[in-house]
Amino acid sequence: MPSRNPLRLTKIIATIGPASNEPEVITRLIEAGADVFRLNCSHSDKATREKTIKIIREVSNKLKREIGILLDLQGPKIRVGKLRNGSILLMEKRRTILTVENILGTSEKFQIVNFEKIIDSLEPGQRVLLDDGKIELSAIKKLNQGEMECQVIYGGELKDGKGVNLPDSDLRSITPLTEKDIDDLKHGIDKEVDFIALSFVRTAKDILEVKKLLPQKTFIKVIAKIEKPQAVNDLDNILSVSDGIMVARGDLGVEMQPEKLPAVQKKLIQSANDKNVLVITATQMLESMINSPKPTRAEVSDVANAIFDGTDAIMLSAETASGKYPVLAVETMHKVALEAESVALRFRHDVQSVQENLARSACEMAERVKAAAIASFTLSGNTAKLVSKQRPPVKVIALTQNVMVSRQLSLFWGIIPVLLVDVHDTETMMNLVEKTLFDLSLIKLGDIIIVTGGLPIAARGESNFIKIHRCANPS
Ligand code: PGA
Ligand code: MN
Repeated sequence: MPSRNPLRLTKIIATIGPASNEPEVITRLIEAGADVFRLNCSHSDKATREKTIKIIREVSNKLKREIGILLDLQGPKIRVGKLRNGSILLMEKRRTILTVENILGTSEKFQIVNFEKIIDSLEPGQRVLLDDGKIELSAIKKLNQGEMECQVIYGGELKDGKGVNLPDSDLRSITPLTEKDIDDLKHGIDKEVDFIALSFVRTAKDILEVKKLLPQKTFIKVIAKIEKPQAVNDLDNILSVSDGIMVARGDLGVEMQPEKLPAVQKKLIQSANDKNVLVITATQMLESMINSPKPTRAEVSDVANAIFDGTDAIMLSAETASGKYPVLAVETMHKVALEAESVALRFRHDVQSVQENLARSACEMAERVKAAAIASFTLSGNTAKLVSKQRPPVKVIALTQNVMVSRQLSLFWGIIPVLLVDVHDTETMMNLVEKTLFDLSLIKLGDIIIVTGGLPIAARGESNFIKIHRCANPS
């Protein structure tokens, strides 16, 4: 049975990279508490990802854990092109020219990739932020087509391939999904990843573009990375077409003033929870652990505060992908989450639909009868998700027959997914629930559990019962 600590409710995503793509490290990351692994298309190729996916599936099978895989598409990311000797120095107050022409860059002139129209979207007076905003330029005047003269406002050393943000520019002419994204997406679908995340989403339309490319009747969930102010402005529409959002604070903190981030994070998390949409808080959560075995106090507080805000999941990026202490970073997050959860308030949002009401009632009932757990039979994962979003007082065991759904549910707050073999009668259902909960040491003889599901089994589609069940027979 799962060798997990059954107490933590908030889920942990660990990004896989050169520091963590071996079976031993992946094993230790799962044992330390990772629930989902992120594969970042910006920093990996298909062959490496294919190998990693295989390892994750093998290891999680061995550990008997339902572990999700999230494929993170690069999206329309803008970058600095090739530079002479790999880097240049940009001096304050000097001028430099940005071009779309394929040249080896110098401090006088360098290339911006990969969009032909990118420079033409830039207007004089607008900012050009390089390398996470560490370097700032101001556009001065258009030279030829595809060339803009800029003034260096904050200088520094600039390396090949660093990210470029144009926070003031209208980038509607740029495609939401590049050829590379489409290729990576198809590869991910083929390898049965569980989640697809799209970077630099601007509006709900961008997410619909991804959905168009998914096979019919797929269970794959689509996550919108909120890292542009335009996406924050279109949040309601994005929430209505996405399965999840990511508070992608890295780029969001470059595209908008970082001092606005804490309040935006609260708003994003609350809006997602109100609409029953999965929410992940990401980036720089334990940043100093890339090089240090101990986090800063501010980082520990940040992880805890994301939990106080009500996030479903917290994410590690370079800490686990390329840092010195990947396993320790997950262990740290796990411990911080446990402490935070012990004092966190649980917000229960308003309910409307019949299914939401069922979920809410199950949670309230669990509270009143002091149930030891809630068990939800769930086909698509929907009921379990709705129960989770009502932030129940106890763990939710989500029992499903769909392997992808069970792996996806590993990312939802408080859910322990269990993959079921086909069940045809209620007695078998109840026996299975009891056995699972006993094996997880979540119940003892005589405990009450709340069970939700749909009956008759043959016609299941929606949940329509809540049962108060006293555990008597752990056979
Ligand atoms: P990235 O996205 O790690 O792919 O850049 C997350 C972020 O920008 O916060
Ligand atoms: Mn980003």
